[in-house]
Amino acid sequence: MLENIYVPRDERFGHLKMADFLGYSIKALVDGIVPAIRTYVDLTPGEFDSFKDILKLYEGGLKLPSIPALEELRKRFPLQLVKDLIPAGGDYLLKLPMPHVIREDKKAWMTDDEFAREILAGVNPMVIARLTEFPPRSRLDPARYGDQTSTITAAHVERGLEGLTVQQAIDGNRLYVVDHHDHFMPYLLDINSLDDNFIYATRTLLFLRGDGTLAPRAIELSLPHLQDDGLITARSTVYTPAARGGTGAGAVEWWVWQLAKAYVNVNDYCWHQLISHWLNTHAVMEPFVIATTRQLSVAHPVHKLLLPHYRDTMTINALARQTLINGGGIFEMTVFPRKHALAMSSAFYKDWSFADQALPDDLVKRGVAVPDPASPYKVRLLIEDYPYANDGLAVWHAIEQWATEYLAIYYPNDGVLQGDAELQAWWKEVREVGHGDIKDATWWPEMKTVAELVKACATIIWIGSALHAAVNFGQYPYAGYLPNRPSVSRRPMPEPGTKEYDELARDPEKVFVRTITKQMQAIVGISLLEILSKHSSDEVYLGQRDTPEWTSDAKALEAFKRFGARLTEIESRGVAMNKDPHRKNRVGPTNFPYTLLYPNTSDLKGDAAGLSARGIPNSISI
Ligand code: MN
Repeated sequence: MLENIYVPRDERFGHLKMADFLGYSIKALVDGIVPAIRTYVDLTPGEFDSFKDILKLYEGGLKLPSIPALEELRKRFPLQLVKDLIPAGGDYLLKLPMPHVIREDKKAWMTDDEFAREILAGVNPMVIARLTEFPPRSRLDPARYGDQTSTITAAHVERGLEGLTVQQAIDGNRLYVVDHHDHFMPYLLDINSLDDNFIYATRTLLFLRGDGTLAPRAIELSLPHLQDDGLITARSTVYTPAARGGTGAGAVEWWVWQLAKAYVNVNDYCWHQLISHWLNTHAVMEPFVIATTRQLSVAHPVHKLLLPHYRDTMTINALARQTLINGGGIFEMTVFPRKHALAMSSAFYKDWSFADQALPDDLVKRGVAVPDPASPYKVRLLIEDYPYANDGLAVWHAIEQWATEYLAIYYPNDGVLQGDAELQAWWKEVREVGHGDIKDATWWPEMKTVAELVKACATIIWIGSALHAAVNFGQYPYAGYLPNRPSVSRRPMPEPGTKEYDELARDPEKVFVRTITKQMQAIVGISLLEILSKHSSDEVYLGQRDTPEWTSDAKALEAFKRFGARLTEIESRGVAMNKDPHRKNRVGPTNFPYTLLYPNTSDLKGDAAGLSARGIPNSISI
């Protein structure tokens, strides 16, 4: 499969591994299914008209014509491996599984409660930050972008703050923001000049209610405006929640609010795929894999500690470079920045910091937690019921304890570490070669103390295991239903008094569906998400090793056993929290509990693992 991208022999899928099948599935999608969908779309109007239309993908399936590419595929792959593609009387039926977010209720995704819950427990739960100044400010260079301060005012939000003023809400740690404004504004002139793209930069203000849930209180949609003097300023409109029901203008306003949330989700989808997922897990891991293999002997204790967390990462990344993130590949086809996508993720790498990847540091930096020596994890969450952070802190802590206990066996003091030439060469290569573009950043640990090594190893293990699991295995469960997480928007928000606004009043679902990702992109995109969200049947989860004889050191084996036991406890704790009615953000209106960070050291084996939305594999392998 890997025709153009070199992967060192040691890093290839060597084992008889079902990841091979996942790789074949991607190849089958690119070479066979996408051309068939193209043909299908040519034969039909190429648009969905309603949510019901979209639901047919999971209920009845989509009939694809038999085309030469599919027949070729059939000769090369056992088609039963591509389970979604069922031969049906000369044609094929593409049938996708029902995404978890609409399994229990087909409409609950539209509620504000679920929109807000997914910010804490969805597939991209690492953007929300505490608001410390009002209105939110921009960090874009004023010399180029003018004043891009938010236009949200106290009058927009104050009715919904349970009697508090904006200042009181800020002082009480009750106001939060999902701020994608600066992320996208500098790129929108280019992005919106592409066909079928109409993207806003968004800010979403959320209020932390007395019952521990979040409520969106205002959404600001902004477009860039190129002035005669060359300055790129923002033109913004603020939308506030509208109640469902009502007639006439009242009914339309509810749909306007639904569209405002959809534009936010379009930003968040892109940020999730390009930054939270590809850049912050898959891409940043490679320098560690390469430096470890080049600089540490296989008998070195740090090599033994980290090896399982690199399993298959180079191979899956090579496959991604060949078919997914390449020019004209599936990412460019389905995510809105299209040909600008990888340029954006490369630009954001300059702001990436290894030090911020440790979960407690990330939470403190976003202001959603504060340092607290009395708390078990040394930080205290300001949003108490924050499923990703709750489960994540427990997992982070277990990883850190494991790294501490294991490394103490080999590094009784800092002097031993400073005298370890292999280890020092390893860190030098990580920093100066692998991450060479940012080698001068001041946050790099110097690697002079055992504490620095523990933190660095814990961070690498965290990125490869839990951080990746949190952003990877919920992709299809949440975004497999595009209306809940559209990847693209194509039309502006209808304004009162226009024929578009009248159309929204007449046929709101049609306008909504035709505003978001179009049919071809939607079918290809969710077919890919399904493959990417599956565990392979021989997955090795956190707390497990594929070779029990990985070390003969009894102390290390005992510490590893303790690590496994702690992870099992964490899973039981997660199961209990999901049953606690006071923790409303765990399950939400869609009745889809947060299970993405269940370590799952126990019961998922074989096919059952598949699209389970749970389990933390050791490494990034899909
Ligand atoms: Mn992944």
